[in-house]
Amino acid sequence: MLQSFYSLITARITARTTLRRAVFLPLAGAFIVALSTVSSLSAAGGGIEVVATGAEVDFPGNVDMSLTAQGDADIVEVRLFYRIVGSRIWAYAYPDFEPSNRITARLNLTGEVSGYLPPGAEVEYYYEITDSEGNMLRTEPSVVEYSDTRFDWEEIEIGPLTLHYYDQPDSRVRAVTRSLEFDLERLQKLLHLEPAGKIKGIIYSRRSDTLAAFPRQSRTTTEQQTFQGFAFQELSLFLGLGMNRGLIVHEAAHLLFGQAMGDGALSTPAWLDEGFASYMDPSSRVYSGNTLSSRTNPLRTMNSVTGTPHAIGAFYQKSLSVVAFLINEFGEPDFQQFIAQLRRGETVDASLTNVYGFNVDGLDARWAGEAPGAPAPAPSAPGSGNPSLILFFNSWLLGGLMLLVLAAVSIQFVASKLRPARNPEEGLQPWEDPDLWDDDQDDGEGPYER
Ligand SMILES: [Zn+2]
Repeated sequence: MLQSFYSLITARITARTTLRRAVFLPLAGAFIVALSTVSSLSAAGGGIEVVATGAEVDFPGNVDMSLTAQGDADIVEVRLFYRIVGSRIWAYAYPDFEPSNRITARLNLTGEVSGYLPPGAEVEYYYEITDSEGNMLRTEPSVVEYSDTRFDWEEIEIGPLTLHYYDQPDSRVRAVTRSLEFDLERLQKLLHLEPAGKIKGIIYSRRSDTLAAFPRQSRTTTEQQTFQGFAFQELSLFLGLGMNRGLIVHEAAHLLFGQAMGDGALSTPAWLDEGFASYMDPSSRVYSGNTLSSRTNPLRTMNSVTGTPHAIGAFYQKSLSVVAFLINEFGEPDFQQFIAQLRRGETVDASLTNVYGFNVDGLDARWAGEAPGAPAPAPSAPGSGNPSLILFFNSWLLGGLMLLVLAAVSIQFVASKLRPARNPEEGLQPWEDPDLWDDDQDDGEGPYER
């Protein structure tokens, strides 16, 4: 995934530069993000010539593609091939035009991508133009970014992360950036990613601004303002609300953890992915296995996040606590070996056994303090012996965590529009569908209404 991402960057540099410049223009509404003539790749193009291509982004909902071409014979077919950067499969569509020896073909690309397309997603595309004599011309690939054109974005690079933001005080940006430099360095070292592949974060400043940008959430989750961020593994992209260190570290940890896993790993259980991302957030509060074990599900059942807010709260706390236990009790070198085993395609049970000498059930028992000679870790913060899941749930932190889980899911959701899922068994789980999440909790009695 990342390799394909990089191999495309060089070819796209011109279009990307054009995009960057356009993004900073203080224009409201639509603007041209890419407009250039395209050279011919095909010797079989006959007399077909591309006069101009354009890609005009007007967020939300519009990526208006246009192509003007002419030839000796009538142009009878134009096909637009496209794929979201990060996916491997190309799709195609037929822009509208009237056959003639000079045509302008148009198509709104977002109309072809059914479902959700996150702002910041980059779409690679090229055209095939055919005339009535069977000549065909294929243009060189270009890239258009589905930018959120409502705001004047600024950007800053922090290690592998390019952070896009607007309406943030310089002092705030500087303070968060200083912390993030440390956090991202730590992440890369722990994951043996030096250097890590590029990732992109898009930070919104107001919740109202996220309504058109974040994936659609259920009424209840929106009212509760549960979700603060979404990470999209295959796009190397995350969205977040607020210039917040913990949120950004958590999201970045998901993307970098995915890089460390590579393409050879089996699917990562949610307890490990979420636990690791939460562990890397320095503001996370870790509760002990003793405290949590009686109210949480067995670790072996925690491959995906369960559906109710209460269960999700417990899920995140246990995931964080277990990963903290692994790293704090046995050290980072062992955890790195564990990651390396997973990267080679070993199962979680085999990887744990090879490195630690116990499997998932053994880890669960030791974490809970039930295994001889392996006491549960002490709470990491004073006064944390009796955690309130409700308070935790209401904090921005948990919201961030939950969203992050959605990342892997949403990515797959987006990608499924353009290509077959890599693993057909990984269908949309109930917890991945916001509509199924917690409406049944919305009876006025749930503690999460507070
Ligand atoms: Zn997460």
